[in-house]
Amino acid sequence: MTDPITCPECEGRKGQHLGELFLRCRFCGGLGWVGDHNEPAERGERPPPEPPPAWEHKVWRDPVVVAALPCRYCLGARTVSHIDEKSRRMTTAACPACVA
Ligand SMILES: [Zn+2]
Ligand SMILES: [Zn+2]
Repeated sequence: MTDPITCPECEGRKGQHLGELFLRCRFCGGLGWVGDHNEPAERGERPPPEPPPAWEHKVWRDPVVVAALPCRYCLGARTVSHIDEKSRRMTTAACPACVA
């Protein structure tokens, strides 16, 4: 994912006025910016399918993997780490799946 930038083609004007006619910029699709979900290269293509949830990842169909990892959530570490959005700090908490 990239940060949206002003469209280099229309310089954010979203298109071109030709007299009475307004031609929508084909590079940015008339948005005046590109990036984020508005990638010109992706236009016209169907969005990629959602990745399967980690719990349903095909690796879990492998009995060897399932036997080696006691917990799908924390992979046996019994703690899970995540970045706290507000404080931008890494926090570690007991695995909710193991605790439950
Ligand atoms: Zn444009
Ligand atoms: Zn766990």
